[in-house]
Amino acid sequence: MYGNRRFVDNRSIKPRQSDADLKNGSLGQKPFATIIGCADSRVPNEIIFDQGVGDLFITRTAGQVMAEASYGTIEYATVVLNTRLIVVLGHQSCGAVKAAMSLPENPPGHVVTLINAIKPASLYAKAHASGEKEQTDLAIRQNVIEQVNELRDLEPVLSRRFASGEVLIVGAVYNLETGLVSFLEETIESLPAFNK
Ligand SMILES: [Zn+2]
Repeated sequence: MYGNRRFVDNRSIKPRQSDADLKNGSLGQKPFATIIGCADSRVPNEIIFDQGVGDLFITRTAGQVMAEASYGTIEYATVVLNTRLIVVLGHQSCGAVKAAMSLPENPPGHVVTLINAIKPASLYAKAHASGEKEQTDLAIRQNVIEQVNELRDLEPVLSRRFASGEVLIVGAVYNLETGLVSFLEETIESLPAFNK
């Protein structure tokens, strides 16, 4: 959160990004957070959080939709690398969410996997907001909330570690215009340990 604030304020310090940092394979890794983000090229995680080599363990797919391989990736970070924070990061103007909002009849190839995963959030937004932009923004938030819940309920590793307080699993949305990452109240209000 502090790193994102630096980025928003044009005060990025670009930590651990020197050539020596980037080319030092002997350091191993101890990332402090796992991020499940969208593949969108306008959301470069290390830059928007002002972090460097070895800080963030990141998995990215369109609409940050998850499947078996994603689960294994996130569990690896939790169990082997011992990251204590998992952030599901959606973003404004997400093309995957917009595609799901249009409910296409025959999406090409495997894109149907993305559409189907985001569909519940899309339907929720259509029922609870009016206006195209309002609906899209709500679907983006709701998609993140559902993905946070998906991970909190994921057996057998994450559900137990979340219940015991060993990991925090929270959701946030990135604003492409301001650069600000806003953590969603719905995903942090039940977490007394989370410093709002
Ligand atoms: Zn996106």
